[in-house]
Amino acid sequence: MPAVTAGTPVTEHYCDCDNCGPQQSSLRLFTLSSVVVMGENMSKRLKLLSSDGDPEDRSFHNPHPDWDPGTASADSEADEGPQGPIEDGKVSASFERRVQSKIKDLLLQMEEGLKTADPHDFSAYTGWTGIALLYLQLHRVSGEASHIQRALDYVKRSMRILNGRRVTFLCGDAGPLAVGAVVHHKLGNSAESKDCLSRLLQLQASVLSPDGDMPDEILYGRSGYLFALLYVCKELGAEAVDEAMLSQVVITIIESGKSFSAEQKKFERCPLLYEWHKKQYVGAAHGLAGIYYMLLQPSAKVHPDMMAELIRPSIDYIRHKRFRSGNFPSSLSNESDRLVHWCHGAPGVIHLLLLAHKVFKEDKYLREASDCAEVIWQRGLLRKGYGICHGTAGNGYAFLSMYKVTQEQKYLYRACKFAEWCLDYGTHGCRIPDRPYSLFEGMAGTIHYLSEMSNPEASCFPAFEL
Ligand SMILES: [Zn+2]
Repeated sequence: MPAVTAGTPVTEHYCDCDNCGPQQSSLRLFTLSSVVVMGENMSKRLKLLSSDGDPEDRSFHNPHPDWDPGTASADSEADEGPQGPIEDGKVSASFERRVQSKIKDLLLQMEEGLKTADPHDFSAYTGWTGIALLYLQLHRVSGEASHIQRALDYVKRSMRILNGRRVTFLCGDAGPLAVGAVVHHKLGNSAESKDCLSRLLQLQASVLSPDGDMPDEILYGRSGYLFALLYVCKELGAEAVDEAMLSQVVITIIESGKSFSAEQKKFERCPLLYEWHKKQYVGAAHGLAGIYYMLLQPSAKVHPDMMAELIRPSIDYIRHKRFRSGNFPSSLSNESDRLVHWCHGAPGVIHLLLLAHKVFKEDKYLREASDCAEVIWQRGLLRKGYGICHGTAGNGYAFLSMYKVTQEQKYLYRACKFAEWCLDYGTHGCRIPDRPYSLFEGMAGTIHYLSEMSNPEASCFPAFEL
């Protein structure tokens, strides 16, 4: 665990799913007050003993009829017309108008709310870099110059308060530095962009050091640094990162997984195995799915032999851990089918399966991804709220990804219905997150998702998808 500097608030970003990190055990955390701000964690919370509860406690019953190809659409109640949010195979103009109007409204609320946010939280996950990423996205879809300017303001604010404690894109210094390099690049500030990039690359020393405490998962570990490298390669060009250096990071992650698998005597079944806080998590945020997803990226340039002998059998190992429902366990030792979040469960694993389908060209991966989509449609409207990490918006990205791969109208319809749910932000009695305006827990993430409706083909799960 990283040291906490005296005088700074404790901002451990265990994704707030009741399931991960040292806080979990049998305790569940409840927010006491609705007047919560980013960073005010424990002061407004009370730990209460609780049972696991049943799935109904975690999600709302999905009230929408599913897509019906026979009638072009299943939903005729909405005021978009007889075809609901979809018209002629596309998001309808009237639905798009509703979404745009809500985005404006939520942006105002978010900016107001951020005035009371934790000034020290620079992270992409819950802090200022996440807000910069939102404005980068809004600039991407609208082309408005004011949005890129806002992205710059927020990322500069982040870069003034880096603390050198973590290396990842989501929770460490790599996020602001990578986003800074990209924003400056887009604005033609070449020297500033190069400076950010060079500082990002300097972080590799701690990633490569044989530090037993450095995890490999996305939020705090090596694959979260790997994402930062792949992100700048995508945005600035492959030459931004030296190939040998990229390869060293990849090899370090692979060696770490091989060594832990051997230690656990699982090398035959799962040649790349990882743990975080003594648990072998499966999901995207802290677990195997997130690590394999990064290693499987074509831009990570993993050698084909390693793909075939190490990564592919490891993916197949976790495939066999799936529940009958199509959902995935939160960790290898957990047999209860509870969480349907991006951080834990099908909404994270689906992205791995879709990428595996693309890379290995086998239908079984796509079939299982579509099973994930079914369980997300049934149980994905979460009581935890409308966010990205463990909320309805993050779950909606699963449908966008399915749509991009299959071009099936059903998935575009489902993505729109989850967006429609988000249009009624705050009216369902959901829990209020600790950082209610942030990218991964709160409103910024919801706006990010809503903004995808204007061009679903180009959607991109923030800080994860490449
Ligand atoms: Zn989460």
